[in-house]
Amino acid sequence: MESLTIISSVLMIWFLSQSSQQEAMKQKEELKKEVSCLRSELQQIRDSRDNLSVQVQRLTSEFDNYTELTTKSIKNLDKITIKTIALEETCASQREKIQLLQHQLAASNEKLKRADLITIKTMTEYEKQKNTIIDLQDRLAEAELQIIEAEKLRKKLHNTILELTGNIQVFYRVRLLLLDTDSGGTDDVVSYPTSLEYLGRGIDLTHNAQKYSFTFDKVFNEASQEDVFVEISQLVQSALGGYKVCIFAYGQTGSSKTYTMMGNTEHAEQKGHIPRSLEQIFQTSQSLQCQGWKYKMQVSLILTFSLEASGGLSKQYRIKHDTCGNTIVFDLTIIDVCSIKAVSFLLQQASQSR
Ligand code: ADP
Ligand code: MG
Repeated sequence: MESLTIISSVLMIWFLSQSSQQEAMKQKEELKKEVSCLRSELQQIRDSRDNLSVQVQRLTSEFDNYTELTTKSIKNLDKITIKTIALEETCASQREKIQLLQHQLAASNEKLKRADLITIKTMTEYEKQKNTIIDLQDRLAEAELQIIEAEKLRKKLHNTILELTGNIQVFYRVRLLLLDTDSGGTDDVVSYPTSLEYLGRGIDLTHNAQKYSFTFDKVFNEASQEDVFVEISQLVQSALGGYKVCIFAYGQTGSSKTYTMMGNTEHAEQKGHIPRSLEQIFQTSQSLQCQGWKYKMQVSLILTFSLEASGGLSKQYRIKHDTCGNTIVFDLTIIDVCSIKAVSFLLQQASQSR
């Protein structure tokens, strides 16, 4: 618009000043130049306008994009805000939990400290006890050695006593009266001296108003199996010490020989001297084995046969005494034994063939 006005004013100027056509022509040329200049300016402006419009379009689309992104971002932000609130709540509760756990940890640490103290105390106690045990063990070992020595001495002394009192000892056992099978009492027949010299060793028997006094190494007055065995066990001990020992019961039928020697094996307190001796032999030999002793047990039996089976002849056994004091009975059945059970079995067999 601006350039068109300029052109019309130029034309008017041309009509008005015909005289100065030359000048006008000049001016016209100048104006033409100016016009072309203006045109090129216009073109430039148009170009820049087009450029700007392209830029505007691009910016608009960018703006749209940004708007869209912003909407999305806002939505995301909302979501994130919700999440954040939730996380903050979780965080708060976790913090509470952490606090609680910290308290618990502190309490546990306290307990641990106390436990540590107790452990230290227990350890000290344990060490003390261990030392006491070691000390006791040492003393025990020493005592055991002393016992072994004492046992050796006891054996030696016992055997000296045996040698001094005589190797043959006679014990007298007075049998209990059985009311259903025995008649009469013993009070008026049997009495015991009360003097210190004969106490436990003497017995007085009265017959037809006449008193007969006897003295033995020991008199058992209605004693139990156990009471009698206390004396017998000393002899068994001697046998284990390498001495030859023989125990036998002598007396009239019904006087208690079998009861004394075998007893009633079904009742522990009525067990006789043979089972008691066997128990002692096996028990003591076992404990002596720990001290280096070795024992070999043999049972000798005389097996008799019925007259019919042996053709009416009873077997003769040769007996020989050698210079070392050994007595040998030929043709004895000798069986090695290593337990009470085995001996008990043989005794049973023997008693059956008596
Ligand atoms: P022996 O073998 O000397 O012939 P026993 O030992 O068989 O005599 O004894 C005869 C009976 O007397 C048996 O029944 C036995 O059980 C019983 N007897 C023997 N001594 C006692 C005692 N001290 N206590 C109880 N009963 C006994
Ligand atoms: Mg008998």
